[in-house]
Parts: sequence; structure tokens; C-alpha cells
Amino acid sequence: MQKIITIVGARPQFIKAATLSRQFQKLGIEELIVHTGQHFDANMSEVFFQEMEIPKPTYQLEIHGLTHGAMTGRMLEGIENILINEKPDGVLVYGDTNSTLAGALAAAKLHIPVIHIEAGLRSFNMAMPEEINRILTDRISDYLFCPTDTAIQNLEREGFKNFQTKILKNGDVMQDAAIYYAEKAEKKSNILSKLNLPTFILATIHRQENTDSPENLRNIIKGLNEINLQIPVIVPIHPRTRNILSLQNIQPEFNLIDPVGYFDMIMLLKKCELVITDSGGVQKEAFFFEKYCITLREQTEWVELVKNGFNMLTGSNPEKLNAAFEFFKTKKSDFSINLYGKGLAAENAANEILKF
Ligand code: UDP
Repeated sequence: MQKIITIVGARPQFIKAATLSRQFQKLGIEELIVHTGQHFDANMSEVFFQEMEIPKPTYQLEIHGLTHGAMTGRMLEGIENILINEKPDGVLVYGDTNSTLAGALAAAKLHIPVIHIEAGLRSFNMAMPEEINRILTDRISDYLFCPTDTAIQNLEREGFKNFQTKILKNGDVMQDAAIYYAEKAEKKSNILSKLNLPTFILATIHRQENTDSPENLRNIIKGLNEINLQIPVIVPIHPRTRNILSLQNIQPEFNLIDPVGYFDMIMLLKKCELVITDSGGVQKEAFFFEKYCITLREQTEWVELVKNGFNMLTGSNPEKLNAAFEFFKTKKSDFSINLYGKGLAAENAANEILKF
């Protein structure tokens, strides 16, 4: 393939796309980026393009703030128009957002090959919008790049061997990003001196199952408030979570800061004592930077982290959260096991894409 259209829209996709864009430039593959607009605040979008030197999107659809159906529908229409005009050799989608599904569906209906990076992941919780997006995107993709053996096994269990789909294991592009940008972050970020805390816990909360349930959200905040009495908890707060906290009149006693750029996030991950999150990507990043992670969910796609003792699932239960915190306080592990590749996932994928 010589001409690729990449569809991005949400924060984790900018980070993932940065790794492949760099490889495409090296290989001389033409890439046009479509930004659907799902995340649009400067600190949720623009900062990543700047810091990570991602090429400016050729198309900005500016679609956000709608219900899932309306958002996906409008993206589908917008992306279809672009694909008809641009006639790419392939469409590249990342992860599990509405932008992922809209991009894959628009391309598949036009018989343009779809490449899915981070394919095969499953939480087995169909109440998650992300799970629906993952399953449907995988099914209509032509090339599935899987980060882990578990992801490949998930696809095999769903019968993908019977489909005309190419399944490849390339490693995890987020591992590539963590390795590539860690040194730059050391030089460019000043978040640690701004915070000026000798020790802290890093937490993030944005998953719909937590933010849209007042009970879950109250429980999580209660658990974090308790932990904060022992070690300061820092939360770069997602705009949606901030709005809901305010609407529900929930007042955290820990430190809320605005969402940070990737360089600041890397430094927070490097220096924190522990990570508490409901994010998919942050669970892995905790591991990349050798930190234990408590996951505020009942399931995770990244099962190998739990299996190897690096991650514990507590859901939103404050007692379980506290017990996990106490457990990890004294635990010492060797984090050198290779779970996600060695930072070559984007290079592996780009080399394959060139051959398609
Ligand atoms: N992230 C960031 N700044 C923040 C919070 C998260 O740069 O304030 C990064 C984080 O390091 C990870 C990605 O955003 O690379 C994860 O995105 P998010 O948690 O929004 O989505 P998920 O991974 O759950 O799909």
C-alpha cells in the first residue's frame, strides 16, 4: 500500500498514530490523517500533535458532544465522502472508539481494505461501548494487527480463522511510544517541579461505566479520598469526569489537575508510587514504567498484567481499592518480563503494510 488514510479522534489514538506516522515517513508511504473531532480540547488533542510531532490532519470533521449513534453516524458520512474523493489503498484505524468503528465501516462498504491496530482485544463486557466497537471493527477489517497472544486467541475463538482476514502479531504500539518519548519527556516536562511532591499516586477516571453511574463515581472518589490521607493522589481529570463531578456535587479531597500532555504524563508515570485507573492505555503504561496498577473496573483487556501480578481489578468498590493499595504498598516484583514487544510494533506493522 502506498497511500493510507488514518482515522483518529480520541486522545489514545493520537498517541498510537504518532508511532506509525513516523514509520510511514521513513518508508515513503503517503499518509493522510482524518481527525473526527471526538476529542477537541487543546489539552486532549492539539498538545499531542505538537509534542509527538504528528503530521497535521488533512481533514478535521469536528464531530463531538453527541450521543453514540449520532456521533458514529455523522462520522461515517464525513469519512465516506473523504474516502470517495481520496481513493486510498487502505484505511488505518486504532483501538476501540466510535471513530474506529466509523472509519472501518465507511471503508469496508467502499471495499477499501481496513487495517486495525490493537485488534483482538476483548473485555467480554458488552455493556462497554468500546467492546461493541472492537468486535465490529475486527469483523470488517482485512488486516488485524494484534498486540498480544491473548488477542490472537480471542480472534481464533471467535472463528476468525474461517474468514479472509490476515491476523498478525506486531506488539504494542503504546510500548513504542513510551520508549521513544521517555527521553524527550525528561527534557521537556516540568510537571514534577510544578507539583513539588516527594511522593504521590497517579490516578485517572473516565470510563463511562464509572462516570455515568453516580454510585460508582461516589465510591471511587471515597476510596481515593481515603488513600489520599496516606499519600497524595494526583488526578489529571478528563473533562467529562470533571463535568459529572460538578453536576453530581461530588467533591474530591485529592488533587485534581487539568489533563496533561504526553510528556507530563510520562513523568507522572515514572515518578509515582502507584497507578489507579480505569483507562486501558494507562494500565499498560504503569507496567512500562514499572509501577503496580489498581484498575477501577471489573474486567480488563490486558489480562496478562493481572495474571502476572502487576495489576489488580477492584471495580469501584472502595474497600477493595483500599485493600489493593495496602497489598501493593509492600510488594516487590521484577517487571522485566516481555509482555508487549520491545518497541518495534509500529515498525513491524508499517513494514507489513508496505507489502499489502
Ligand atoms: N494521557 C495523557 N494525559 C492525561 C491522561 C492520559 O497523556 O491527562 C494519556 C495516557 O498516558 C495514555 C492515553 O492518554 O497514553 C490513554 O488515554 P485514555 O485513558 O483517555 O484512553 P483509553 O486508553 O482508556 O482508551
